Amino acid sequence: MDSIPAPARPRLLLVDDVKANLLLLAKALGQDYECRLATDGASALEQAISDPPDLILLDVMMPGLDGYEVCRRLKADPRTINIPVIFLTHLNEEADEKAGLEAGAIDYITKPFRFPIIKARVRNHLELKRRGDLLEQLAGMDGLTGIPNRRRFDETLTLEWNRTRRHGAPLALILLDIDFFKSYNDHYGHPQGDDCLRKVAAVLAATLQRASDTLARYGGEEFAAILPDTSLDSAVDMAELMRCRVMDLAIPHGYSRVAACVTVSLGVAACIPAERNSAAELVEAADGALYQAKHAGRNRVGR
Ligand code: GH3
Ligand code: MG
Ligand code: MG
Repeated sequence: MDSIPAPARPRLLLVDDVKANLLLLAKALGQDYECRLATDGASALEQAISDPPDLILLDVMMPGLDGYEVCRRLKADPRTINIPVIFLTHLNEEADEKAGLEAGAIDYITKPFRFPIIKARVRNHLELKRRGDLLEQLAGMDGLTGIPNRRRFDETLTLEWNRTRRHGAPLALILLDIDFFKSYNDHYGHPQGDDCLRKVAAVLAATLQRASDTLARYGGEEFAAILPDTSLDSAVDMAELMRCRVMDLAIPHGYSRVAACVTVSLGVAACIPAERNSAAELVEAADGALYQAKHAGRNRVGR
């Protein structure tokens, strides 16, 4: 008879330079969690990146990279930024606690270990993390770039379509696609590709001026901007500004056939929403304009 697979257990990374501490922790937490162990900061970082755990228990005082530095690096890396870190330490002075929390830790537990407390805190933080992730999903935000996701884009477009139709105002849409991004990923690696996506998203969001504008991640390396009450000409100006701002980032791209840095192609469309047309037609028109921009040589705006 086939055995029923056990539900996946949350995974913890336990980090302490004293092996005896690790074994004690693993014994106490091993019933409820899958525990992996690291005895120094460097290998903790490696493990956290190569196989991210759900939560990290991190000793502060370690030779080499200490816990604060490990935590800072975890929080500076998009691949590990969202993993909650709890510090484990003998230190119990206010200043140390503050330093730990400022390095990005979510909580602080002092030695000697009191296992019921450790278990309760680990359970609580895992639950908080789970709820936060769920909220992010429900809120329609893209986890990588922090801007609205495709689902939110669709909802906003419908909303703005109906609103501008009632007012007889124009609605513009910009679709944007990074040029030669596949070769960027292939040569520089996926993490750096992710980093590039985040930078492009941030500069595009900063370029949009009105509170009513919406920038979303439309697909992998595609973004979309909804501009209510905006004419085609104004939207084209905005698209041109976006194109320049992305070039100004000067992200080196040695494998692009159009420039030495990362560039984007954009398609713009606008219309005055009416009964007889639909938001889907506006998307189609912007997509057609983007296609033209790509075929005309990339790093340009199509309309
Ligand atoms: P073009 O100039 O015609 O747009 O060429 P392209 O290479 O940008 O287009 P293509 O559609 O062939 O490749 C898109 C690439 O985007 C493929 C995939 O590796 C990359 N990509 C999509 N989503 C992500 C992501 O979330 N992270 C990273 N790093 N890369 C992604
Ligand atoms: Mg694409
Ligand atoms: Mg592309």
